Amino acid sequence: MPGPLAFHPSANIAELRESATIAVSQRAKALKAAGREVIDLGAGEPDFDTPEPIRTAAKLALDKGATRYTAVEGILPLREAIAAEANGHYKGEGKVTPADIVVSNGSKQSLFNACMVLFGPGDEVLVPTPSWTSYYEMVTLARATVVEVHGDPAKGFKVDPERLARHATPRTRGLMLNSPSNPTGSVYSPDELRAILDLAAERGWWVISDEIYVRIAYDAPAVGALDVAGRRDNLIVVNGVAKAYAMTGWRIGWTISAPAVAKAMNAFQSHTTSNAATVSQHAALAALTLGEPVEQAVRAMVAEFKARRDAALPILRASSALTVLQPAGAFYFYLKVPGTGADAGAAFCATLLEEHGVAIVPGSAFRTPDWVRISYAAERSQVVEACSRVARLADAMSAG
Ligand code: PLP
Repeated sequence: MPGPLAFHPSANIAELRESATIAVSQRAKALKAAGREVIDLGAGEPDFDTPEPIRTAAKLALDKGATRYTAVEGILPLREAIAAEANGHYKGEGKVTPADIVVSNGSKQSLFNACMVLFGPGDEVLVPTPSWTSYYEMVTLARATVVEVHGDPAKGFKVDPERLARHATPRTRGLMLNSPSNPTGSVYSPDELRAILDLAAERGWWVISDEIYVRIAYDAPAVGALDVAGRRDNLIVVNGVAKAYAMTGWRIGWTISAPAVAKAMNAFQSHTTSNAATVSQHAALAALTLGEPVEQAVRAMVAEFKARRDAALPILRASSALTVLQPAGAFYFYLKVPGTGADAGAAFCATLLEEHGVAIVPGSAFRTPDWVRISYAAERSQVVEACSRVARLADAMSAG
């Protein structure tokens, strides 16, 4: 009898890295299980419940039989609602139609679908850095090459056409954009976004614009690619219900693209997951179409995120040992911590968790290892307390 079969990861996942975000939350959970009190500001998930009118609509849909497969690309009323919303923003060539839309199991699947159908071996993809950890992995899983384009911290790490052009080669095929950004909270202005889209159109690059945080902006409304683009043949706009409507667990995201790209993503998804959960599609439809009762809940959530930002930012800024970006959207603080070495952020996070009971995420997850990310998707008093501990630890480290 041969012995147990040893597992050797396939070439497909040879370069896959474990998510640093998950590693921190696992350690925080272990400490909590051992009886320690931990304030967990690691999660990228709104701490609110899905608004009641959406939950009620989903229950009704279930009772009416929303329990079977749907078309792979999603139910028509949902795609119509997404198209109508998009056309409210887009005034360029070629109106958005339901045929341009593929509904998926979260915007994460939408992003993965897009990377898989657009990029392959030999292609280079520009990734403004820091970016959300999964972009690097998805581009790599598509066997394309990530080209990190580091932004200027003094500009909230935002990139501009000159910086992107400096990293371009004849093999550049596309660009990942994310505004408001996870992890920096930076928001591109209409002019900044337009300038980047103009360059991409001129060079023939695909632009995957991840707009999952577009409803969560504090100082001015955030714009998406369709607000400023004159054409959209090279755009794949990604959005979903997770963050704006506190619907992370329902797993609904979507892409808006040229029909040929949508068709390819649809075929790809037909062999991986088929349609997104039927009841969740009905819940997303309710989120997009119920109007004022839902909009009221969204405004209240955004106002609470803003109140937390405004309460905690001065506490972090009071520490001269920290460099803290001002987030204009999403729900994260991004800050440079004291310490030297290749992974100063991870060392800071480890000490903060083990000795001060606060879980946050090291910037290595976003390819900027001397920074850290604090999520303020937690109760305001907890955010304030945790940020005080972050500032105290930073002060103590820089004094010692
Ligand atoms: N894009 C960004 C920038 C995110 O931060 C996240 C979640 O953290 C996602 C996409 C995935 O969201 P979804 O729950 O829709 O898959």
